[in-house]
Amino acid sequence: RKGSVIITGASSGLGLATAKALSETGKWHVIMACRDFLKAERAAKSAGMSKENYTVMHLDLASLDSVRQFVRNFKESRRPLDVLVCNAAVYQPTAKEPTFTADGIELSVGTNHLGHFLLSRLLLDNMKQSDYPSKRLIIVGSITGNTNTLAGNVPPKANLGDMRGLAGGLNGLNSSTMIDGGDFDGAKAYKDSKVCNMLTMQEFHRRYHEDTGITFASLYPGCIATTGLFREHIPLFRLLFPPFQKFITKGYVSEEESGKRLAQVVSDPSLTKSGVYWSWNKDSASFENQLSEEASDVAKARRVWEISEKLVGLA
Ligand code: NDP
Repeated sequence: RKGSVIITGASSGLGLATAKALSETGKWHVIMACRDFLKAERAAKSAGMSKENYTVMHLDLASLDSVRQFVRNFKESRRPLDVLVCNAAVYQPTAKEPTFTADGIELSVGTNHLGHFLLSRLLLDNMKQSDYPSKRLIIVGSITGNTNTLAGNVPPKANLGDMRGLAGGLNGLNSSTMIDGGDFDGAKAYKDSKVCNMLTMQEFHRRYHEDTGITFASLYPGCIATTGLFREHIPLFRLLFPPFQKFITKGYVSEEESGKRLAQVVSDPSLTKSGVYWSWNKDSASFENQLSEEASDVAKARRVWEISEKLVGLA
């Protein structure tokens, strides 16, 4: 049978490019888990994906109810689940004030981390039941959350601190909207959420890899300077960022190439090692990258896991 893969945020950018790359092999059925049904259908059509290779299902990661409803709908569909890709994200670098999920949690961490945390916890059983030879749970990370890299040292830097804000629910009422308890900063909230993504992947690996055989992985796909992720940035930034990445940092990668990279992490027989953060060198060859000290901190990973369980109602 075909492999069955769920990709969140497959309506644009990296998620769409990955859905396209996998569907073109004819070996995968892609479930595009998206908040805007029509946009996703149109995106799949204009990418030339053929109808028998994908299904669009509604998922709004900024609502824990929607996550639970998506999981119910998916279970009712009786499709197997072989690979789950947590890809969707919001980035609000110019936001002056925080915005919130349906549950009253700061939007970047609420969507990028907590929505995906609940989704992957609820779908783990489906993956366990799959008879597919190589089952994988992939959480898209980023270099910007990695303070051991040049890009990760551009201020404001990611820093989870003692996680007092996260423990308080990031609600802006009786707790800070930032994980470390500081003042709201949209760019930092995004980076913090990506550190949570990378810590969660490793905690999954420690808790479940041996028993389930599932491969848990994260990746930095390269700087895809043209995606919608930068839609909220100022116009001058959006104009100059792609050539800057192409010619100065040389970290630029096209959407198509980034999609091929993530598709490798989904299906390549040589990328089955669990607990790995994948990156690609200048010749587009994959290698196991190092995470920053904070993004590989075992105690922090456990604490993020435990607090997140409470916030999403699993504990
Ligand atoms: P895009 O903005 O193009 O894609 C993000 C996707 O997430 C969109 O499909 C968007 O949906 C979806 N999304 C946002 N909020 C929600 C929500 N509440 N529920 C469901 N879906 C939602 O950005 P990219 O493709 O660049 O980003 C994809 C991933 O790649 C992210 O995890 C990002 O952190 C990571 N990444 C990107 C880099 C880059 O340079 N671009 C570098 C490193 C990592 P909609 O279409 O409806 O807006």
